[in-house]
Amino acid sequence: MSDLPNLDHYWLPFTANRQFKSMPRLFQAAKGNYYTTIDDRRLLDGTAGLWCVAAGHGREEIAVSVANQLRTLDYAPAFQNSHPLAFEAAERLAQYMPPGLDRIFFTGSGSESADTALKIALAYHRVTGNPLRNKLVGRERGYHGVNFGGIAVGGIAGNRKAFGNGLAGVDHIRHTLDIGRNAFTRGLPQDGGIALANEFEQRITTLHDPATIAALIVEPMQGSAGVLLPPVGYLKRLREICDKHGILLIFDEVITGFGRLGTKFASDYFGVVPDIITCAKALTNGAVPMGAVAVKRDIYDAFMANSPAGGIELPHGYTYSAHPVACAAALATLDIFATEKLEDRAAGLSTHFEQVAHSLKGLPFVKDIRNLGLVAGIELESIPGKPGAAAFATYLKCYEMGVLVRYTGDILAISPPLTIEKDEIDRIFSTIGEALTTLAAEGEA
Ligand code: PMP
Repeated sequence: MSDLPNLDHYWLPFTANRQFKSMPRLFQAAKGNYYTTIDDRRLLDGTAGLWCVAAGHGREEIAVSVANQLRTLDYAPAFQNSHPLAFEAAERLAQYMPPGLDRIFFTGSGSESADTALKIALAYHRVTGNPLRNKLVGRERGYHGVNFGGIAVGGIAGNRKAFGNGLAGVDHIRHTLDIGRNAFTRGLPQDGGIALANEFEQRITTLHDPATIAALIVEPMQGSAGVLLPPVGYLKRLREICDKHGILLIFDEVITGFGRLGTKFASDYFGVVPDIITCAKALTNGAVPMGAVAVKRDIYDAFMANSPAGGIELPHGYTYSAHPVACAAALATLDIFATEKLEDRAAGLSTHFEQVAHSLKGLPFVKDIRNLGLVAGIELESIPGKPGAAAFATYLKCYEMGVLVRYTGDILAISPPLTIEKDEIDRIFSTIGEALTTLAAEGEA
């Protein structure tokens, strides 16, 4: 057992700090699909870290590549200079992206990717002579990170209301969850997709002029707000509406990228190609912070064609854009995906995952179960006056029983590494089941 560090100074993000510091949950090591806590307990990782460790923990290939890079070139200025790995990583990522999205801007995180994508969309309309296209549309319960652009288009009020006014010129469309109609649907909800997408067109034509809308940003599958799935046909219809009105469509694939749904990107899964894709997380298997924004070639070309010669085409970027160490980690991760075909592995496990996830139906507190690829959301009945308490208690019970799950509000989210084995999937869900039954018996939750 390692000693407990002094807990006073570190302010944890998105965490109830006082609660955490009264009951710290610290990890000291990780390998494969398991964490080891500082009190030497093994925890099965049901969440791939924060959706990011897709290839499993402690990958030697990534460690070697990162260590070598640190010794060779630790940093190169990101502006006005660069280094070969940046171009190599961009080329390899472009090849991994859906066809056409082959110009890559690197960032340091999902939040930076979201804000970068929004800025590119706004600037694109300006360089192409349409400065009045300056409004952004997001979605209720959408999560696009925590920077100002991301929280403005995001639809989680709690993440926004603490911080004042945010951005002007932003609107939101409805989210896609309809438990009344779709509770316990396996995979995608079948009905209502077109009507729901049509609400986007109604909204921009009745409340705005569609010619003022720069971009619509959506997560193809809403992850952080609790696994909200798009009904069949919904995303395709959004694409048609965007095309009709000259609006750029941005898919935030920070969670759905890199095999999570059994395809490289959700765009491949749904057969809908957006104009811009954001990604992060599993791009480096969570080992080093990095994000990326992929844009269609004609968007990049428009900047190159319409900006004054010799001038900066996009006044935007980060000190750590295309950081050499992050590029090394991304290349090693893309190699792992290529050799281990982790997308196919996820697809092959998804039916088993679905069956086991839905076996929790009928257990105490379980109100809905949703799944796609290797993602499941288990929505629990809210305890009156104690929102989120049931899911938090379940998370703690699972932790005690050696399984890491994630909770957001009253929803448990399960997203294991794509290297997970069938018996480990069984263990994740049986542990959740046991936790729920125990909590009901104890009358605790
Ligand atoms: N977009 C989506 C869809 C996400 O799920 C997340 C993180 N969960 C982000 C953006 C933000 O990523 P980061 O925390 O790396 O800034």
